[in-house]
Amino acid sequence: MAKQLPYKTIREIFRRFREAEPEPKGELEHVNAYTLVVAVALSAQATDAGVNKATRTLFQIADTPEKMLALGEEGLIEHIKTIGLFRQKAKNVIKLSRILVEEYDGEVPNSRAALQSLSGVGRKTANVVLNMWWRYPAQAVDTHIFRVGNRTGIAPGKDVVAVERAIEDNVPADFALHAHHWLILHGRYICVARKPKCGACIIRDLCQYEEKTL
Ligand code: SF4
Repeated sequence: MAKQLPYKTIREIFRRFREAEPEPKGELEHVNAYTLVVAVALSAQATDAGVNKATRTLFQIADTPEKMLALGEEGLIEHIKTIGLFRQKAKNVIKLSRILVEEYDGEVPNSRAALQSLSGVGRKTANVVLNMWWRYPAQAVDTHIFRVGNRTGIAPGKDVVAVERAIEDNVPADFALHAHHWLILHGRYICVARKPKCGACIIRDLCQYEEKTL
């Protein structure tokens, strides 16, 4: 695990990220808060591209919890069977839609606890929804962010909660909202798992990873 980088270095890293991409966006397609919750719930252990392919037609038919319940579990499965773990995910989406209708008047709530009361929605999913929809500077740590945080020293931590806390504690407030997407995109396209593209990395001189590639 790298050592925690100092404030000035972290500021410079995010200044470069912002210069390269001022408005980073998530890649999961959605048309409202509800479809974002569904898309994130479907994306566990699946690629965003794979989820988007399935949800493009699904969300034309079912873009509210009421319409999803009308479609039903079997109907939903027909749309998402190209996505891993689709049976369990279909069950969760139907259950969470029912909870939304019965307990939240069909609206997506905006507290972490309320979001996590929905079936299949864990801390990471709740943080993605808080960040992408409600523009709250929540940090959803996935495998990419965990790797980048630890390699660079931006946010070292033994587990995802420790990395989440390190991001919250160390990323300057003016970068906090977009930190999630800058880190995720960096991990997805540059600081990749097997052979990071250090030669093309804009923070190479600031990163602490000892096994940088050329
Ligand atoms: S220099 Fe290499 S290891 Fe460090 S952030 Fe860039 S790609 Fe990742």
